[in-house]
Amino acid sequence: MTTRTAAAAARATVYGYPRQGAHRELKKAVEGYWKGRVTADALRAASADLRRANWRELTDAGIGEVPTGDFSYYDHVLDTTVMVGAIPERHRAAVDADALDGYFAMARGTQDVAPLEMTKWFDTNYHYLVPELGPETVFSANSSKQVTEFEEARALGLTARPVLVGPVTYLLLAKPAPGVAADFDPLTLLDRLLPVYAEVLADLRAAGAEWVQLDEPALVQDRTPADLNAAERAYRDLGALTDRPKLLVASYFDRLGDALPVLAKAPVDGLALDFTEAAAGNLEALASVGGLPGKRLVAGVVNGRNIWVNDLEKSLSTLGTLLGLAERVDVAASCSLLHVPLDTGLERDIEPQILRWLAFARQKTTEIVTLARGLARGTHTISTQLAANRADLASRAGSPITRDPAVRARTGAVTDADARRSQPYAERAAAQRAALGLPLLPTTTIGSFPQTGELRAARADLRAGRIDGVGYEERIRAEIREVISFQEKTGIDVLVHGEPERNDMVQYFAEQLTGYLATQHGWVQSYGTRYVRPPILAGDISRPEPMTVRWTTYAQSLTDRPVKGMLTGPVTMLAWSFVRDDQPLGDTARQVALALRDEVGDLEATGTSVIQVDEPALRETLPLRAADHPAYLAWATESFRLTTSGVRPDTQIHTHMCYAEFGDIVQAIDDLDADVVSLEAARSHMQVARELAAHGYPREAGPGVYDIHSPRVPGAEEAAALLRKGLDAIPAERLWVNPDCGLKTRGWPETRASLENLVAAARTVRAEI
Ligand code: GLN
Ligand code: ZN
Repeated sequence: MTTRTAAAAARATVYGYPRQGAHRELKKAVEGYWKGRVTADALRAASADLRRANWRELTDAGIGEVPTGDFSYYDHVLDTTVMVGAIPERHRAAVDADALDGYFAMARGTQDVAPLEMTKWFDTNYHYLVPELGPETVFSANSSKQVTEFEEARALGLTARPVLVGPVTYLLLAKPAPGVAADFDPLTLLDRLLPVYAEVLADLRAAGAEWVQLDEPALVQDRTPADLNAAERAYRDLGALTDRPKLLVASYFDRLGDALPVLAKAPVDGLALDFTEAAAGNLEALASVGGLPGKRLVAGVVNGRNIWVNDLEKSLSTLGTLLGLAERVDVAASCSLLHVPLDTGLERDIEPQILRWLAFARQKTTEIVTLARGLARGTHTISTQLAANRADLASRAGSPITRDPAVRARTGAVTDADARRSQPYAERAAAQRAALGLPLLPTTTIGSFPQTGELRAARADLRAGRIDGVGYEERIRAEIREVISFQEKTGIDVLVHGEPERNDMVQYFAEQLTGYLATQHGWVQSYGTRYVRPPILAGDISRPEPMTVRWTTYAQSLTDRPVKGMLTGPVTMLAWSFVRDDQPLGDTARQVALALRDEVGDLEATGTSVIQVDEPALRETLPLRAADHPAYLAWATESFRLTTSGVRPDTQIHTHMCYAEFGDIVQAIDDLDADVVSLEAARSHMQVARELAAHGYPREAGPGVYDIHSPRVPGAEEAAALLRKGLDAIPAERLWVNPDCGLKTRGWPETRASLENLVAAARTVRAEI
């Protein structure tokens, strides 16, 4: 292998591209199909148009090898389930009757059958549908989607590379099907699954695919020797096939660690590795196994999941090092561009100067092409781009937006004491008991009440100028009156104002904090047809003025009962935004924490005695590898405490978390030092209460007794039974009664009935103790 051939061959490629289209055509077509307004043929045609448009766009930008198979009506893991024929028993009839309707039944459920479970794709905000497997699972190859899409690209005269979820990752992402023993290990199905992959690969080869990419991101997580063995076996077997395309095994989101030597030695034809900060260590590890002699290396040097412009010179230097480590080096984004918005060029509200700091999918594609050209033909061929890039990076680094001296002075002066309450919990608890005078088993809710069509209409009216600020304010106040009066009537003890003013729990604050950017068109797929527009933490964060005080104090003015102030915590503000890449996450979290600390102080000063700081994302942002957990949890819990520790001992701090198995973060929950924590628990029958007890959690807790994810109204007796279970683990003096999460997605009728039952349950159980 020589450096020169590796360089001369360099090509630009990507693993996947935003699916929805510039005007969210896919969302419209799929939802139209669900509603019966779009026919199956029209949906298929619209989708094929979108695929073609993406390939043309990529090709026109200079991408030499386009991905196929990355498109999906809903989710690419579900597509893989279909590809290997692992249709759950309960969906088989629907799939047999109509493949497309059966597909959506698996994704969304029907009147009679539950959908597949949905969970986060590694540490991104994309959600996939979890395969359900068991000892009885029979796989069978169905390569039609892959072959069709490959042939579509070929018909355009393009060089295309099908991208598939790899067999090891597919099994590692699966869970035991309902009715299968919980300790069933899907990886035991590997020998049954590999022949199916072999068949799909043969079909793709027959269709003309030279290369096929198998994505194995699960190998960047901590893996057991058995898992690594499985990976070794999988690629030994697939590599040994005679009738196959060349295999490119891809990983991303973190370093490969122990899996790297396994894959490097495997008889496959190339590896695609993440060489961004998130996967630091891959380069050294690759060098230490002697590189990939005779093979292809696809170098993910452009961050595929953040939105910042690439440092082209730094990437070129990485690529230069990599040239010595493989037969051929290609340039790519670190992962599929599915995780970033489409195009900064669509943004009208961001200053042009700042817009140049950002790179969405289209801009990243250009960066990849530029880097590949620089690598293949020399940096002099891209000198204009390099100069422009240098200027953009310098403008970002030197901007007063990214460096606000006042913010920096303040974060620099933070001491340990700032992140510690002035009194230990026991003393605070006594002061709070005296100040609040709540009954045993106090009832409360998590914050939001139904976000009705009228509320959304009010916001739309405000944006469109149909009503003014005063008119909008009055509509919100009317809603608050309604929410307060309902809670008083129902007999809830700690009230909330209902969050009617919030479009979204992160966006609402992002819009008011200096240093945050909002996009107009920065849609990113969260799951299925649901797209979100994460705000961008672009600069140093400060709070020009109070963000929630006027709503909370208005609500408090209507009642004698305590109204809980309601804020989104710093970890969640980071988790659901695009974060800065020019400083440690902990520094950004600290800035956000100080801004929120001011809000907490203002709430307290204006008479709010209970303040909740939500951290639903605490668990989901855990790094993929356990070795990285302590550092993350240290800054995460510190930023929460920095937000909440400035208050008087008799001010009660609540926090709330959902969507998680909490078992592995009980210590972190403890480290938040919140006076009260509410957690999702209804569906797991109060599992978390037992976990808190086993840990010796010393403070108050409200494991949810009402599953708000479904319109079902829990009976008072059912809620009481859950409460009694809670009491088995947590003493009555420390147990709260609340739903699992906020009620914004629910309708009023079920909210009313459920909360009435919840209060009745609390009364029943109080009478028993
Ligand atoms: N306070 C928020 C609400 O009730 C919490 C939402 C969440 O945890 N996801 O809507
Ligand atoms: Zn929640």
